[in-house]
Amino acid sequence: MERLSRLFWPVLVTPKNAVIKNVEAISRSQKLLTELGLVRPGYNGTYQLMPLAQRVLDKCADLVRRQMRSVGAQQITLPILTPSELWKKSGRLDGDITEFYLLNDRHGKQFLLSPTHEEAVTAMLASIAPISYKQLPLRLFQIGPKFRDELKPRFGLIRAKEFVMKDLYTFDRDAATALQTYEQMNAAYNALFQQLQVPFVKVEAATGMMGGSVSHEYHYLAATGEDQLITCDSCGYAANIETINEADSDKHCPRCKSTKLRSVTGIEVGHTFVLNDKYSKPLKATFLQEHGKPENLVMGCYGIGISRLVAAAVEVLATETELRWPTLLAPFDVCIIGAKQGSKEEKLANSVELEFCNALSGICNEDDVLIDDRSNLTIGKRLLDAKRMGYPIVAVIGSKAAQPIPKVELHLTTGDTMEVEPSEALALIAKHISHKRALYSIKQDISASAKSSKASIG
Ligand SMILES: [Zn+2]
Repeated sequence: MERLSRLFWPVLVTPKNAVIKNVEAISRSQKLLTELGLVRPGYNGTYQLMPLAQRVLDKCADLVRRQMRSVGAQQITLPILTPSELWKKSGRLDGDITEFYLLNDRHGKQFLLSPTHEEAVTAMLASIAPISYKQLPLRLFQIGPKFRDELKPRFGLIRAKEFVMKDLYTFDRDAATALQTYEQMNAAYNALFQQLQVPFVKVEAATGMMGGSVSHEYHYLAATGEDQLITCDSCGYAANIETINEADSDKHCPRCKSTKLRSVTGIEVGHTFVLNDKYSKPLKATFLQEHGKPENLVMGCYGIGISRLVAAAVEVLATETELRWPTLLAPFDVCIIGAKQGSKEEKLANSVELEFCNALSGICNEDDVLIDDRSNLTIGKRLLDAKRMGYPIVAVIGSKAAQPIPKVELHLTTGDTMEVEPSEALALIAKHISHKRALYSIKQDISASAKSSKASIG
């Protein structure tokens, strides 16, 4: 169990009469995450994650990693530095390069601080090509930092110059199997977003600078979203407005012709592409077919912005003053607040707390229990802090624990508060843990996802 007094948690204290110099619009997630000391601004669009935020990010990465492994993907790590000559070969260096970080080493060789790794992973496969058709489908992913020199970094982790991504690259033998892979990966994304329980929409997307043929985006709907989306109330069609002919967009649905179109704004948290041979052809990444002839690999790429997703979830779930987390991402499941030092109930309450914590270690992961041991502070002050941090369950073991029949006060993020005997409090925590387990075991439904992606591929 973690002790709050040991936690590195540099809360930002803004003097009451502070003059706000920076008048740029900030989002709810940026405001709460920085004010509550989870994230600190670094230089010009970069951020420092403090231990509480790191816990959330790690949980998110773990969840994504599990989902990727469940569809046969293997984790690798490629260098952050990619030789720019590879981007020359793919043609991307000849496009708009204003958002790339380019740098030279001491020998004058030019590199990119990679914003994405299509070229790097394809060149790696080319260097061991040809692989055999028997090794396909091949699915490789990484989780790590990516870089983009944003003109206007905004909304904290939502649009930062350095961010954490999961990027998956898939390799198939032909277009048909690449589409099967595409459906499987979209099913994995669907399952992941269901596990997170933040409402999301999957929309048809433009392929943009990635190239390729088929693409979808996953969005969280939020007022601060920077993407305009169109959804159809009649048939469920949804698309990024980039994909829609301007003339059609305010008239009728491209699929069912209904006029019940709604325009919403979203934060893109995931993106899937079929790339075909856009990278394998110029970089010569081939495989040997059964009859021995080499053929270009058919690729796909699949991103999830992990640091952005964490902030976007807060953007959707938080209140004005309190953080809220997807159940599986909360930095701790339970926060325990004991009696104030020197209070008359201190001795009795402490023994109830000790017994409670012992029992708790048999119910949930000890690493997910936080004890607010700042007993020099009042219970009220600590409870306020715990509520702001959005811990799903806060258990106060104070004066009521010193009664002949001891009671624990439970505060839930739903706003419910209850006074119950310790055994009942433990049962409620056990219920929360079994709810978490149920979320972990949400299965991919390939048929449902295939139906929806086929329909929207049209
Ligand atoms: Zn429609």
